[in-house]
Amino acid sequence: MRQTTRTLPFPKNIALVAHDHCKANLLEWCRKNSAELSKHHLYATGTSGNLIKQQVGLTITPMLSGPMGGDQQIGALIAEGKIDILIFFWDPLNAVPHDPDVKALLRLATVWNIPVANNLATADALISSKLFSETFTIDIPDYQDYLNQRISQ
Ligand code: PGA
Repeated sequence: MRQTTRTLPFPKNIALVAHDHCKANLLEWCRKNSAELSKHHLYATGTSGNLIKQQVGLTITPMLSGPMGGDQQIGALIAEGKIDILIFFWDPLNAVPHDPDVKALLRLATVWNIPVANNLATADALISSKLFSETFTIDIPDYQDYLNQRISQ
């Protein structure tokens, strides 16, 4: 597929999601990095977002709770180019009822080539990278070219 580019802006649109057993890790990470995170536009699934708002004091746009459609809402924003970075502490040790939505969210983040952190170490590496506080250009699928090819078959 032909590629084009998208420039991730500064401030960035950052989505934060954590499964239940990982929420304490996400809250602690947000606390530790609140000065940097407060420079950006933050989105989160419902429970994660409200906990971050309550316990860390960051301003967040909350989606629905993950099992109620929040992962899908974030996936849709990624497909529309409205989320630049995904911090998603998904639980590798416990089953969740919305596993297909989790897979879909991770799939769309990969399709649209946004930086994703799935664990603390990667989240730490990402937030200490200069891409966090600067604009950053990524390759993305050229959707118009994709569509043109499909309708000219
Ligand atoms: P929650 O959703 O923040 O509403 O718990 C997270 C998830 O399970 O995807």
